[in-house]
Amino acid sequence: MKKTEQILRGMARENPVFFENREAFLKGLLESTAKLFTAERVSFYYCDEKNGLLRLMMRRFGGASFEAEENVRLSPDSPASGVLGSLTPAAFKNKAGYFLLAPFRIEIYSSDARREAPLQGLVKLERSLKKGRRFSPAEAALAHEYIGEFMRSYYKAEFVGLNKKYAKNLAVITELTEIFANSLRVRESFKHILSGIQTYFGFDRVRLYLIEENGQKLKGELSSDIRGQIKSIAYEEIPLEAGAHRFADIVLGHSSGVFMERYKDCVLYMPLVVQGVTIGLLIVDNLLSQQKIEPGELAMLKSFAGQIGLALDNVRLFDKVEELSLYDELTKLPLRRYFNQRFQEEFYRAERFKQPLAVIWADIDYFKEVNDTYGHQIGDRVLKEVGRVILSNLRKIDFPCRFGGDEIIILLPQATGAEAEKLAQRLAEEIREIRIPVPFSRTRELMVSVSIGISTFPQDASAIETLLEKADDALYWVKSHGRGRIALAGEVEKLKAEAKKENMGQG
Ligand code: GH3
Ligand code: MG
Repeated sequence: MKKTEQILRGMARENPVFFENREAFLKGLLESTAKLFTAERVSFYYCDEKNGLLRLMMRRFGGASFEAEENVRLSPDSPASGVLGSLTPAAFKNKAGYFLLAPFRIEIYSSDARREAPLQGLVKLERSLKKGRRFSPAEAALAHEYIGEFMRSYYKAEFVGLNKKYAKNLAVITELTEIFANSLRVRESFKHILSGIQTYFGFDRVRLYLIEENGQKLKGELSSDIRGQIKSIAYEEIPLEAGAHRFADIVLGHSSGVFMERYKDCVLYMPLVVQGVTIGLLIVDNLLSQQKIEPGELAMLKSFAGQIGLALDNVRLFDKVEELSLYDELTKLPLRRYFNQRFQEEFYRAERFKQPLAVIWADIDYFKEVNDTYGHQIGDRVLKEVGRVILSNLRKIDFPCRFGGDEIIILLPQATGAEAEKLAQRLAEEIREIRIPVPFSRTRELMVSVSIGISTFPQDASAIETLLEKADDALYWVKSHGRGRIALAGEVEKLKAEAKKENMGQG
């Protein structure tokens, strides 16, 4: 007994790290037990009574402690069952080695002094047949007492761990609040929101689903996996109908948990509600690590749910407003405002990196006539089709714009005049293939053509304004020479110069 007391006091003094959290606590227990009782292997199991299992929580072996997955079925006549039932230790030998099983049991009271199911389990000490020796009855008694004493500090470790967590939570609140507050711009912030939640709470996985605007579907948005990698889950679509899917039921309020639901304490579903309207669903889980989501975490997330919802909604709204103000509804092309900014950036880049930049300026031929003859609606159809053709033919880096009326400008970074001409030819050709059915017409189908002027940096201009002017000049030249063609600014200049010479010669 004396020795145990000494050991215990020594332990508390020497190893304050024990109490940092549950993991450190278990490590400390296994390490000191292995040392004190010269055991080659020490395993800590807790008893899952409901399933009749002993679940391994941590093992020390070969000088290291690690968490490992091992479930041992508790058969009634096994030594483990005997040890757990009688709460007395047992030492024995079998073909695998010398063993000592030391049980523990701690009563747990909740904060309102309610008694909960006790935490019980056992520590298994092993020595190999080759190197080791039998565990004596005295050693068994000592180990049992030592472990029992140690386990009394278990909840202290839990408590300190929790306290640390809450201290961390304070930092979480500050940081996440900042993320949410800054989540006004760009869709990129969905990612920040997700990884913020994952990083600070340490969940295995976070998934975000949003309800589509028409309210018919719950659509996957992003998922953050255990390595923190964020992926799109846009391919996941769940019809928003009762009974269609667990997620749908939760969002529709048909599920038992109104706000949150826990599945085996490892999954948490969090409907995101903004001003009484559900906009999506956030799902966090620890299914891989099987770590329980603590009530404290649940409460924290719950208090964040409103903010998360608001932040996501802001992002969506902002996207929409941005889209509305920067893109043309009809052609889906960016508007002039957006273009001006982009043009400056691209021009600057071209200058700086000494790369070409081509400008295509296109204008629909006799478009006023289309409107006048068939009405504005048909005119709109034409614009829509032209927009579609353009968008389907551009590279990622190209930037089109509905410059106004029936005029479209396309920026082609890194493209030479010849490359721009090639693209222009393809566009003109596909636009000529557009057929719009029209009532009361002889041909019953309307066809359109475009005139196109092209200028390139640095050949045709050294300033942004001149570059645009040159493309416009080229377009004007086509318009005044029969329409439906493509002209390069350089060629137009030459033609103009020749014409001038001829004129002078004649004059
Ligand atoms: P040109 O071959 O010289 O280009 O002749 P045009 O008839 O196309 O003349 P212009 O380019 O000057 O006319 C543009 C017309 O486009 C004027 C306007 O009525 C029409 N327009 C501008 N925006 C829209 C629109 O959003 N929808 C429709 N349907 N028409 C539009
Ligand atoms: Mg026109």
